[in-house]
Amino acid sequence: MSSLRPFLLVIATTCTLPALAQENVLNLYSARHYQTDEALYANFTKLTGTIINRIEGKEDELLERIKNEGANSPADVFITVDAARLAQADALGLFEHVKSRVLDERIPANLRSPDWFAFSTRARVIIYNKAAVNPADVQNYEDLAGPKLKGKVCVRSGAHPYNLSLGSALIHHLGEQKTEEWARGLVANFARTPKGGDTDQIRAVAAGECGVSISNTYYIARLLRSEKPEDRKAMEKIGVIWPNQKTFGTHINISGGGMLKTAPHKDAAVKFLEYLASDEAQAYFANGNNEWPVVKSAKVGNAALESLGTFKPDSLNVGILAKNTALAQKIFDRAGWR
Ligand code: FE
Repeated sequence: MSSLRPFLLVIATTCTLPALAQENVLNLYSARHYQTDEALYANFTKLTGTIINRIEGKEDELLERIKNEGANSPADVFITVDAARLAQADALGLFEHVKSRVLDERIPANLRSPDWFAFSTRARVIIYNKAAVNPADVQNYEDLAGPKLKGKVCVRSGAHPYNLSLGSALIHHLGEQKTEEWARGLVANFARTPKGGDTDQIRAVAAGECGVSISNTYYIARLLRSEKPEDRKAMEKIGVIWPNQKTFGTHINISGGGMLKTAPHKDAAVKFLEYLASDEAQAYFANGNNEWPVVKSAKVGNAALESLGTFKPDSLNVGILAKNTALAQKIFDRAGWR
């Protein structure tokens, strides 16, 4: 927070001077904190001369901050993870509609909305303990609620956006009632009360505390790339499944961003968003968190990700995920998935 204060002062004393509308800066509110991002931003400055002031924070805190700053917010671009969070910002009217041929051409239609854009994708996959579970029994999300997995399922809280987004996709594909039945079946299969994040579930599956779980792919890739021998050993015990390959495809979520309505530097903001869709930036952006680029021509040499193989992703528009989130939460509450 302290890093912003001098900047706010500058704005407050000079923003009435028209000459400064051209100042070459971009204020980026980012929930990303990866080392590769340094290179990502430095490259933008090299290409455009625009200096990036970065305010980093937790996803929900940044959103809250932008809301509280209101019309005086210095934020130009907001970057975060999860479609539901981006849609939440959108529903609050924080994003400006961005018209850009570059973004429309490079980002697939199901990975953008009129107001915000996905720049990388992650998949939510099933992981299982190879010694304890037959992979044939866990080929689909639906299987996690089946009687064969009684007492074997570990999963993080049903209130977490990752699970809510998965729930949103299931509502779309299976309907509300089937999704509720699924959630009840899942809860009935719990090996333990939900706790921890995805990495904790992976470790619990490796340790045999549970037989199966669900995890975002970048957590798996991170452990696969870990230099700690115990992490590598744990990963040897785990199998990864792309769920629902014969039906609607594996649920994917995104990280992405948009330009704020109150952005003081709108030209720079659009340029920056377009830059993020360039092949070079895509590689940095996606690789920083072991994710996949959204732009087809972008290449990432990430051996851990590649070792997971290829899969059919759910082609559902990411905007739909967000629309069903509130209902997903109600369903999970009713089913007792805390
Ligand atoms: Fe995460």
